[in-house]
Amino acid sequence: MTIKSLTRAAVLMAAVVLAPDADTASIPLVKNQAPGYFKIMVGGAQVTALYDGSSTFPLTLFKNAAPETLQREVAAVDGDAPKVVNGSVNSFLINTGDHLILIDSGGGKLLGPGFGQAMANLKAAGYRPEQVDMILLTHMHRDHIGGLVTDNGQPAFPNAAVWASKPEVDYWLSQANLDGAPSDQQAGFQRARDILAPYETAGRLHSFSYDKDLLPGLKAVALPGHTPGHSGFMLERNGQSILFWGDIVHYSALQFAHPELGIGFDSNSALAIKTRQALLKQVVRQKTLIAGAHITFPGIGYLRADGSQGYRWTPVGFGEVR
Ligand SMILES: [Zn+2]
Repeated sequence: MTIKSLTRAAVLMAAVVLAPDADTASIPLVKNQAPGYFKIMVGGAQVTALYDGSSTFPLTLFKNAAPETLQREVAAVDGDAPKVVNGSVNSFLINTGDHLILIDSGGGKLLGPGFGQAMANLKAAGYRPEQVDMILLTHMHRDHIGGLVTDNGQPAFPNAAVWASKPEVDYWLSQANLDGAPSDQQAGFQRARDILAPYETAGRLHSFSYDKDLLPGLKAVALPGHTPGHSGFMLERNGQSILFWGDIVHYSALQFAHPELGIGFDSNSALAIKTRQALLKQVVRQKTLIAGAHITFPGIGYLRADGSQGYRWTPVGFGEVR
Protein backbone atom coordinates (compact mmCIF):
# COMPACT_ATOMS: atom_id res chain seq x y z
CA MET A 1 0.00 0.00 0.00
CA THR A 2 1.48 3.37 -1.02
CA ILE A 3 1.38 6.44 1.18
CA LYS A 4 -1.11 7.95 -1.24
CA SER A 5 -3.53 5.04 -0.96
CA LEU A 6 -3.06 4.97 2.81
CA THR A 7 -4.05 8.62 2.93
CA ARG A 8 -7.08 7.95 0.79
CA ALA A 9 -8.12 5.09 3.06
CA ALA A 10 -7.78 7.37 6.07
CA VAL A 11 -9.94 10.02 4.42
CA LEU A 12 -12.59 7.44 3.58
CA MET A 13 -12.53 6.11 7.12
CA ALA A 14 -12.85 9.63 8.52
CA ALA A 15 -15.81 10.25 6.24
CA VAL A 16 -17.50 7.10 7.55
CA VAL A 17 -16.87 8.16 11.15
CA LEU A 18 -18.03 11.74 10.58
CA ALA A 19 -21.22 10.92 8.65
CA PRO A 20 -23.86 10.60 11.39
CA ASP A 21 -26.33 7.79 11.22
CA ALA A 22 -29.70 9.18 12.26
CA ASP A 23 -30.52 6.05 14.26
CA THR A 24 -27.29 5.69 16.20
CA ALA A 25 -26.10 9.29 16.42
CA SER A 26 -25.10 10.32 19.91
CA ILE A 27 -26.43 13.79 19.16
CA PRO A 28 -30.09 13.29 18.17
CA LEU A 29 -31.62 15.51 15.52
CA VAL A 30 -33.74 18.30 16.99
CA LYS A 31 -36.59 18.71 14.56
CA ASN A 32 -38.70 21.49 16.05
CA GLN A 33 -38.62 24.72 14.03
CA ALA A 34 -38.36 28.30 15.32
CA PRO A 35 -41.72 29.78 16.38
CA GLY A 36 -43.57 30.85 13.24
CA TYR A 37 -44.18 34.55 13.67
CA PHE A 38 -42.70 37.55 11.91
CA LYS A 39 -43.25 41.22 12.76
CA ILE A 40 -42.99 44.40 10.77
CA MET A 41 -44.21 47.96 11.34
CA VAL A 42 -46.57 49.64 8.87
CA GLY A 43 -47.22 53.32 9.55
CA GLY A 44 -46.97 52.85 13.31
CA ALA A 45 -49.10 49.68 13.46
CA GLN A 46 -47.46 46.34 14.08
CA VAL A 47 -48.24 43.57 11.62
CA THR A 48 -47.41 40.02 12.71
CA ALA A 49 -47.51 37.11 10.27
CA LEU A 50 -48.55 33.86 11.99
CA TYR A 51 -47.54 30.53 10.48
CA ASP A 52 -50.28 27.89 10.60
CA GLY A 53 -48.61 25.09 8.62
CA SER A 54 -47.50 24.08 5.17
CA SER A 55 -48.00 21.22 2.78
CA THR A 56 -47.64 20.17 -0.80
CA PHE A 57 -50.47 20.04 -3.24
CA PRO A 58 -50.53 18.40 -6.65
CA LEU A 59 -49.89 20.30 -9.86
CA THR A 60 -53.06 18.73 -11.25
CA LEU A 61 -54.99 21.30 -9.19
CA PHE A 62 -53.88 24.04 -11.56
CA LYS A 63 -56.09 24.78 -14.55
CA ASN A 64 -55.41 26.17 -18.03
CA ALA A 65 -52.02 24.54 -18.62
CA ALA A 66 -50.67 21.17 -19.71
CA PRO A 67 -48.92 19.11 -16.98
CA GLU A 68 -45.59 19.33 -18.88
CA THR A 69 -45.82 23.11 -18.96
CA LEU A 70 -46.48 23.25 -15.23
CA GLN A 71 -43.55 20.95 -14.46
CA ARG A 72 -41.25 23.06 -16.64
CA GLU A 73 -42.33 26.24 -14.88
CA VAL A 74 -41.84 24.73 -11.43
CA ALA A 75 -38.47 23.38 -12.54
CA ALA A 76 -37.40 26.86 -13.58
CA VAL A 77 -37.89 27.97 -9.98
CA ASP A 78 -37.12 24.86 -7.97
CA GLY A 79 -34.27 23.45 -10.02
CA ASP A 80 -35.89 20.11 -10.81
CA ALA A 81 -39.33 18.93 -11.79
CA PRO A 82 -41.33 17.92 -8.72
CA LYS A 83 -44.85 16.63 -9.10
CA VAL A 84 -46.09 18.55 -6.11
CA VAL A 85 -45.71 22.10 -4.89
CA ASN A 86 -45.51 23.61 -1.43
CA GLY A 87 -47.77 26.26 0.00
CA SER A 88 -48.06 27.68 3.51
CA VAL A 89 -51.07 28.90 5.42
CA ASN A 90 -50.52 32.32 6.99
CA SER A 91 -52.72 34.44 9.24
CA PHE A 92 -51.94 38.03 10.17
CA LEU A 93 -52.36 40.15 13.27
CA ILE A 94 -52.57 43.94 13.23
CA ASN A 95 -51.91 45.78 16.48
CA THR A 96 -53.04 49.38 16.07
CA GLY A 97 -52.55 50.13 19.74
CA ASP A 98 -56.34 50.35 20.21
CA HIS A 99 -57.31 47.16 18.42
CA LEU A 100 -55.83 43.73 17.91
CA ILE A 101 -57.16 42.50 14.58
CA LEU A 102 -56.72 38.95 13.31
CA ILE A 103 -57.00 38.35 9.57
CA ASP A 104 -58.02 34.70 9.04
CA SER A 105 -57.53 32.07 11.72
CA GLY A 106 -55.64 29.24 10.04
CA GLY A 107 -57.09 25.76 9.77
CA GLY A 108 -57.29 24.69 13.41
CA LYS A 109 -57.93 20.94 13.50
CA LEU A 110 -59.45 20.87 10.01
CA LEU A 111 -56.29 20.49 7.94
CA GLY A 112 -54.67 17.58 9.72
CA PRO A 113 -51.19 17.04 11.18
CA GLY A 114 -48.77 19.92 10.95
CA PHE A 115 -51.49 22.56 10.72
CA GLY A 116 -53.32 24.55 13.34
CA GLN A 117 -50.19 26.28 14.64
CA ALA A 118 -51.48 29.86 14.30
CA MET A 119 -52.78 30.02 17.88
CA ALA A 120 -49.51 28.75 19.39
CA ASN A 121 -47.60 31.22 17.24
CA LEU A 122 -49.90 34.09 18.26
CA LYS A 123 -49.00 33.32 21.88
CA ALA A 124 -45.31 32.86 21.04
CA ALA A 125 -45.44 36.31 19.42
CA GLY A 126 -46.43 37.77 22.80
CA TYR A 127 -50.19 38.14 22.38
CA ARG A 128 -53.21 36.45 24.00
CA PRO A 129 -56.37 35.33 22.20
CA GLU A 130 -58.50 37.38 24.62
CA GLN A 131 -56.80 40.54 23.31
CA VAL A 132 -58.13 39.98 19.79
CA ASP A 133 -61.23 42.15 19.42
CA MET A 134 -61.82 41.90 15.67
CA ILE A 135 -61.40 39.03 13.23
CA LEU A 136 -61.59 39.74 9.51
CA LEU A 137 -62.15 36.80 7.18
CA THR A 138 -60.92 37.00 3.62
CA HIS A 139 -63.31 34.11 2.94
CA MET A 140 -64.80 31.04 4.58
CA HIS A 141 -62.69 28.13 3.32
CA ARG A 142 -61.54 25.82 6.10
CA ASP A 143 -57.89 26.93 6.07
CA HIS A 144 -59.10 30.44 6.98
CA ILE A 145 -61.82 29.68 9.57
CA GLY A 146 -60.86 26.37 11.24
CA GLY A 147 -58.89 28.12 13.99
CA LEU A 148 -61.86 30.22 15.10
CA VAL A 149 -63.06 27.51 17.46
CA THR A 150 -61.52 25.35 20.18
CA ASP A 151 -61.55 21.54 20.16
CA ASN A 152 -64.98 21.57 21.83
CA GLY A 153 -66.47 24.09 19.41
CA GLN A 154 -66.26 27.20 21.59
CA PRO A 155 -64.95 30.54 20.28
CA ALA A 156 -61.14 30.45 20.44
CA PHE A 157 -61.20 34.26 20.61
CA PRO A 158 -63.67 34.99 23.42
CA ASN A 159 -63.77 38.77 23.00
CA ALA A 160 -63.69 39.03 19.21
CA ALA A 161 -66.35 39.91 16.69
CA VAL A 162 -65.99 38.12 13.35
CA TRP A 163 -66.47 40.04 10.11
CA ALA A 164 -66.80 38.81 6.53
CA SER A 165 -68.23 40.41 3.42
CA LYS A 166 -71.99 40.32 2.93
CA PRO A 167 -71.77 38.14 -0.21
CA GLU A 168 -69.49 35.69 1.65
CA VAL A 169 -71.81 35.42 4.65
CA ASP A 170 -74.86 35.12 2.43
CA TYR A 171 -73.25 32.40 0.32
CA TRP A 172 -71.84 30.10 3.00
CA LEU A 173 -74.53 30.44 5.65
CA SER A 174 -77.50 30.02 3.33
CA GLN A 175 -79.66 26.99 4.06
CA ALA A 176 -80.78 26.99 0.43
CA ASN A 177 -77.15 26.85 -0.80
CA LEU A 178 -76.41 23.99 1.60
CA ASP A 179 -79.47 22.06 0.49
CA GLY A 180 -78.85 22.71 -3.19
CA ALA A 181 -75.10 21.98 -3.24
CA PRO A 182 -73.76 18.80 -4.86
CA SER A 183 -73.20 16.16 -2.16
CA ASP A 184 -69.39 16.49 -2.33
CA GLN A 185 -69.66 20.22 -1.61
CA GLN A 186 -72.19 20.16 1.20
CA ALA A 187 -69.52 19.57 3.84
CA GLY A 188 -67.98 22.97 3.09
CA PHE A 189 -71.27 24.76 3.71
CA GLN A 190 -72.00 22.75 6.87
CA ARG A 191 -68.50 23.37 8.18
CA ALA A 192 -68.78 27.15 7.76
CA ARG A 193 -72.13 27.13 9.56
CA ASP A 194 -70.81 24.99 12.44
CA ILE A 195 -67.69 27.07 12.97
CA LEU A 196 -69.42 30.42 12.83
CA ALA A 197 -72.47 29.35 14.87
CA PRO A 198 -71.02 30.15 18.32
CA TYR A 199 -70.07 33.65 17.17
CA GLU A 200 -73.45 34.15 15.51
CA THR A 201 -75.31 32.94 18.62
CA ALA A 202 -73.34 35.43 20.72
CA GLY A 203 -74.26 38.24 18.32
CA ARG A 204 -70.64 38.54 17.25
CA LEU A 205 -70.86 37.69 13.55
CA HIS A 206 -71.15 40.68 11.24
CA SER A 207 -71.04 41.32 7.52
CA PHE A 208 -69.42 44.34 5.89
CA SER A 209 -70.01 46.19 2.68
CA TYR A 210 -67.16 47.69 0.69
CA ASP A 211 -68.30 51.28 0.76
CA LYS A 212 -67.13 52.31 4.21
CA ASP A 213 -64.01 51.81 6.33
CA LEU A 214 -63.97 48.98 8.88
CA LEU A 215 -61.85 51.16 11.14
CA PRO A 216 -60.07 54.42 10.39
CA GLY A 217 -57.35 53.50 7.87
CA LEU A 218 -58.60 49.94 7.37
CA LYS A 219 -60.90 49.05 4.54
CA ALA A 220 -62.14 45.92 2.77
CA VAL A 221 -61.51 45.41 -0.93
CA ALA A 222 -63.76 43.21 -3.10
CA LEU A 223 -61.65 40.48 -4.75
CA PRO A 224 -64.31 38.01 -5.95
CA GLY A 225 -63.84 34.75 -7.81
CA HIS A 226 -61.99 32.44 -5.46
CA THR A 227 -65.23 32.58 -3.46
CA PRO A 228 -68.22 34.87 -4.14
CA GLY A 229 -67.33 37.29 -1.34
CA HIS A 230 -63.55 36.85 -1.25
CA SER A 231 -62.05 40.07 0.15
CA GLY A 232 -58.76 41.75 0.77
CA PHE A 233 -58.01 44.28 3.52
CA MET A 234 -56.00 47.45 3.00
CA LEU A 235 -54.32 49.08 6.00
CA GLU A 236 -53.19 52.65 5.36
CA ARG A 237 -51.51 54.66 8.10
CA ASN A 238 -49.18 57.62 8.09
CA GLY A 239 -48.35 57.31 4.40
CA GLN A 240 -47.60 53.56 4.56
CA SER A 241 -49.85 50.70 3.51
CA ILE A 242 -50.16 46.94 3.28
CA LEU A 243 -52.72 44.85 1.42
CA PHE A 244 -53.79 41.52 2.93
CA TRP A 245 -54.98 39.79 -0.22
CA GLY A 246 -56.09 36.36 0.99
CA ASP A 247 -56.03 33.71 -1.74
CA ILE A 248 -55.22 35.83 -4.79
CA VAL A 249 -52.20 33.55 -5.28
CA HIS A 250 -51.89 29.97 -4.02
CA TYR A 251 -48.46 29.04 -5.33
CA SER A 252 -46.12 31.90 -6.02
CA ALA A 253 -43.68 29.90 -8.18
CA LEU A 254 -46.40 29.33 -10.75
CA GLN A 255 -49.02 32.01 -10.50
CA PHE A 256 -46.74 35.05 -10.42
CA ALA A 257 -45.15 33.95 -13.69
CA HIS A 258 -48.54 32.77 -14.94
CA PRO A 259 -51.41 34.73 -13.37
CA GLU A 260 -53.69 33.17 -15.96
CA LEU A 261 -53.48 29.82 -14.16
CA GLY A 262 -56.59 28.90 -12.18
CA ILE A 263 -56.71 26.53 -9.25
CA GLY A 264 -59.30 23.87 -8.48
CA PHE A 265 -60.38 25.59 -5.25
CA ASP A 266 -61.82 28.60 -7.10
CA SER A 267 -65.61 28.77 -7.13
CA ASN A 268 -65.56 30.94 -10.27
CA SER A 269 -62.29 30.28 -12.07
CA ALA A 270 -62.71 32.89 -14.82
CA LEU A 271 -63.56 35.63 -12.33
CA ALA A 272 -60.73 34.61 -9.97
CA ILE A 273 -58.24 34.88 -12.85
CA LYS A 274 -59.61 38.26 -13.93
CA THR A 275 -59.45 39.56 -10.36
CA ARG A 276 -55.86 38.30 -9.94
CA GLN A 277 -54.65 39.79 -13.19
CA ALA A 278 -56.17 43.19 -12.44
CA LEU A 279 -54.89 43.26 -8.85
CA LEU A 280 -51.33 42.20 -9.70
CA LYS A 281 -51.15 45.00 -12.24
CA GLN A 282 -52.47 47.47 -9.69
CA VAL A 283 -50.13 46.55 -6.81
CA VAL A 284 -47.09 46.77 -9.07
CA ARG A 285 -48.18 50.19 -10.30
CA GLN A 286 -48.83 51.40 -6.75
CA LYS A 287 -45.82 49.59 -5.21
CA THR A 288 -48.12 48.11 -2.57
CA LEU A 289 -46.70 45.93 0.20
CA ILE A 290 -48.51 42.56 0.06
CA ALA A 291 -49.40 40.00 2.72
CA GLY A 292 -50.59 36.71 1.18
CA ALA A 293 -52.31 33.81 2.92
CA HIS A 294 -50.48 31.14 0.92
CA ILE A 295 -47.23 32.74 -0.15
CA THR A 296 -44.27 31.06 1.55
CA PHE A 297 -44.11 32.28 5.17
CA PRO A 298 -44.17 35.05 6.21
CA GLY A 299 -45.90 35.80 2.91
CA ILE A 300 -45.02 39.50 3.01
CA GLY A 301 -43.24 41.24 0.17
CA TYR A 302 -43.38 43.25 -3.01
CA LEU A 303 -44.18 42.37 -6.60
CA ARG A 304 -42.59 43.70 -9.72
CA ALA A 305 -43.28 43.06 -13.36
CA ASP A 306 -41.16 40.38 -15.04
CA GLY A 307 -41.67 40.18 -18.79
CA SER A 308 -44.86 41.23 -20.48
CA GLN A 309 -47.32 39.04 -18.55
CA GLY A 310 -45.54 37.75 -15.47
CA TYR A 311 -44.37 39.03 -12.08
CA ARG A 312 -41.55 38.41 -9.65
CA TRP A 313 -41.89 38.28 -5.85
CA THR A 314 -39.41 39.91 -3.49
CA PRO A 315 -39.99 38.75 0.09
CA VAL A 316 -39.26 40.95 3.08
CA GLY A 317 -36.05 40.08 4.86
CA PHE A 318 -35.72 38.99 8.49
CA GLY A 319 -34.69 41.81 10.75
CA GLU A 320 -35.41 43.94 13.80
CA VAL A 321 -38.92 45.37 14.32
CA ARG A 322 -38.53 49.04 13.47
ZN1 LIG B 1 -56.86 29.43 1.33
